[in-house]
Amino acid sequence: MNELLMFALLFAAIGIGWWLGRRSATAAGPDLPGQYYKGLNYLLDGRPDGAVDAFINALEVNSETLETHIALGNLLRKRGEVDRAIRIHQNLLARPSLPRPQVHQAHLELARDYISAGLFDRAERLLRDLVKDSPEQRRASQRHLLEIFQSERDWAQAIEVATALLPRKSLLGAPAAVARGASAQPVAVALAHYHCELANELLAQGNVSDAHAQLLQALAKDRQCVRASIMLGQVEYQSGHYKQAVKALRKVRQQDPDYIPETIPTLRDCYRELGDQRALRQYLEECLQANPTAPLVLAVADDLRETDGDEAAVSFLSEQLARYPSLRGLSRLIGLQMQNTEGSIRNNLTLLELLVDRLIAERPTYRCGHCGFAGRQLHWFCPGCKHWGTVKSIRGNRVD
Ligand SMILES: [Zn+2]
Repeated sequence: MNELLMFALLFAAIGIGWWLGRRSATAAGPDLPGQYYKGLNYLLDGRPDGAVDAFINALEVNSETLETHIALGNLLRKRGEVDRAIRIHQNLLARPSLPRPQVHQAHLELARDYISAGLFDRAERLLRDLVKDSPEQRRASQRHLLEIFQSERDWAQAIEVATALLPRKSLLGAPAAVARGASAQPVAVALAHYHCELANELLAQGNVSDAHAQLLQALAKDRQCVRASIMLGQVEYQSGHYKQAVKALRKVRQQDPDYIPETIPTLRDCYRELGDQRALRQYLEECLQANPTAPLVLAVADDLRETDGDEAAVSFLSEQLARYPSLRGLSRLIGLQMQNTEGSIRNNLTLLELLVDRLIAERPTYRCGHCGFAGRQLHWFCPGCKHWGTVKSIRGNRVD
């Protein structure tokens, strides 16, 4: 027996009893109906199913009691009792006498029940009707539709709904309120990611030109979309447009410098093709000065090693580690030092490297700035809070 459910029902029983009591006092109507006591008995016997039915029967549905019915249904849904919530909300819709706005409210709650139960097709049908028929519930319904299309990875439909949610441009130039998507994020942020997801699918099919168009769309919707710039850089590189690739990737620095490390591998390839590795060094040094992070220190060290050799990388790392200590930097430094040693020193360094690598393996590389979800992979859609673009590489404080 679920104690929380019993508590919820008991709570509802008090509410229903209060309403029935008030009605009989004001309208001089009958005392509390037998169905109400029957419901209480079911509750005391630990039989919530019977209690739900009895309460539904005790409380006639009209405009005044609608809120109580809806609240009881929502309480059950939040407790994970979705089947019972569906029964309560469906019961409301069986009453043709309710005014239309209240019918729409009940429809919306039923759609939420279906989403909780994973019955997306049923929820989608209800929500589409609401978008058409109910101006009051339109935006809430569109947000739930987005939630469904995101879960189903149906990006084309998600783009359609999110675009409809965007604020209309005002002719008077008044600033429009920021429209929110399925989560509390601005819908334009999510929309840009939907275009990126679509671009990913097109790339997997080998359709580079349509993918390119989708990425431009993403940037048109959200100029700050780092992911679109990174993907655009990769697409341009693959198409042999190295200068355009560099331009797209260097934009990340203005958009969000925490993502610079993600751009470096492709930037390095581009500059190699362009025969201008000094430009990369200069760019990285500028970035490092403006925004010193452990991942960036490592990237510069890798670059130095490639162009100037191990010794240059070792002296750079030693100097930087004193200022920005990081485990990953230490591991890289040990690895570089080990190549020039032998005998017992080499054995000791091998052991040290093993220990440091074990410490690194236990730590996450990426973290969501919104909910704190941490992992070893860059997720553009946070699995924890379902926000887009909030996961980024850990900057590397003293322990990372
Ligand atoms: Zn998160």
